[in-house]
Amino acid sequence: MGIIRHPPFPTMSRPHRLFDRSRLLLLLSFVLGAGFLATTLGSYEVSKQTIREAIIRQELPLTSSNIYSEIQKDLVRPVLISSTMASDTFLRDWVLGGETDKKAMVRYLGEVKKRYNAFSTFFVSDHSANYYTGGGVLKRVSSAEPRDGWYFRVRDMSEAYEINVDPDLANRDALTIFINYRVFDYDGRYIGATGIGLTVDAVRRLIADYQERFQRTIYFVDAQGKIVLFGNNSGQAETDIRAIPGLRDIADRILAAGSGSYEYGGPGGSRLLNVNYIPELKWFLFVEKAEDGALAEIRRALYVNLAICAAVTLVVLLLTQLALSRYQQRIEEMATTDKLTGLFNRQAFDILVEQLLAEHKREQGQFSVLLADVDHFKAVNDHHGHHGGDAVLAAIAQRLQRDLRASDIAVRWGGEEFLIVLRGCGLDEALATAEKLRQDVAQTRFEVDGTPVPVTLSIGVAPYQDGEPPDHTIGRADASLYRAKNGGRNRVCVAAPPGT
Ligand code: GH3
Ligand code: MG
Ligand code: MG
Repeated sequence: MGIIRHPPFPTMSRPHRLFDRSRLLLLLSFVLGAGFLATTLGSYEVSKQTIREAIIRQELPLTSSNIYSEIQKDLVRPVLISSTMASDTFLRDWVLGGETDKKAMVRYLGEVKKRYNAFSTFFVSDHSANYYTGGGVLKRVSSAEPRDGWYFRVRDMSEAYEINVDPDLANRDALTIFINYRVFDYDGRYIGATGIGLTVDAVRRLIADYQERFQRTIYFVDAQGKIVLFGNNSGQAETDIRAIPGLRDIADRILAAGSGSYEYGGPGGSRLLNVNYIPELKWFLFVEKAEDGALAEIRRALYVNLAICAAVTLVVLLLTQLALSRYQQRIEEMATTDKLTGLFNRQAFDILVEQLLAEHKREQGQFSVLLADVDHFKAVNDHHGHHGGDAVLAAIAQRLQRDLRASDIAVRWGGEEFLIVLRGCGLDEALATAEKLRQDVAQTRFEVDGTPVPVTLSIGVAPYQDGEPPDHTIGRADASLYRAKNGGRNRVCVAAPPGT
């Protein structure tokens, strides 16, 4: 015999929560969210630091030393050549000898120029003011001529040499650098200036190439902070590092320290900078990189990770919510259902009766209570055993369920006793329903292992009286049941209303 399990509380919402689901979900989403955020942001920070370290410790210094070895060829060697020229005994002897054979000096300068593939070589005599080059005597320098200003600056300076960049000499593109070396006689008296002029287009192309390939900015800065050399098409507009926002604030520190790694907030975001002092040129080599560009990739990864974490959190919450509601439903069902008959148990009734009263108060409807007890059930157990009795009880419950409406409430009240609440029923309707139930059970053929088991019910009826506690109604139904038993069983009785 099957047992019909009806969903608990078919027409009433559950009044009590066994646990607070939304708080649990909130806590879960908080824990998941915090955990994911901490790990994602943490690993992002670590990657960011690693990338920054790599840029500062490896990339920029490597670029710097590559550029340095390239310019060694193009810039440092000419300084050494100029130095050699300045200490050349032929040159000094020739000056001390009265500069008589001009051709000898021109030949000398021409040979040096040819040998080292220089743009130009020169010697300016302090005594005669003659400007000698590999091609002949160019002119006489004069302190009145602004273009000769360099010579008088070199004559009066304290350093052994200077490097002078003249970007607009021969043609616009060919940036020319002059290395101006002071020449002394054997007694340390100043006798003139010599050196090499060279184009640094190759260096500029190299810098431009580096800049393009590795998204770095490369330029040279002199001891005063003036930007003296930068790549072609670099877009470098400023001529002094003190004019560059962000860099301006640390300019003095950089120029004093010589070499080092720095970070400054430029107009386009944070920039990482490596500075190397090149003593031969008395220049600083600046290599810098925008941090933002370097971090773009891992920032994209961060966003993807965050999106994945959010999706996982959502899915986990959704699954948890589903599982919880299923378990909650099952637990509530178990807690409110009688296992043998599938009817409500007494705990469920305690909850339901509150709702019933609230509903009654709100809608001013009526309801009645039936209390049904199986007649001589002891005998069923005696003849068919306890298991047989159980099967019969379940079958009776099934029968009752079938006869009742969905809005009625059937409760297993005691061992073989059922309490039924008929919603919307006054006394007459309740009596009719009780009689229908009684007849149906009496006419139904119950059997255990093929043996018929005659079953009858005694039913007490009590309509709910406005304002009374439900206990009283049940008490009156019980009294009615007592009368039905006394009256010979298999019958329906109604108690006299209170006060009669
Ligand atoms: P009456 O007509 O006066 O109600 O007679 P009765 O024998 O039904 O009444 P009584 O209260 O003396 O006995 C009830 C019996 O129901 C006794 C008990 O063993 C049996 N019973 C109660 N609950 C269960 C149950 O869950 N399963 C089975 N098999 N029997 C039960
Ligand atoms: Mg009984
Ligand atoms: Mg009984």
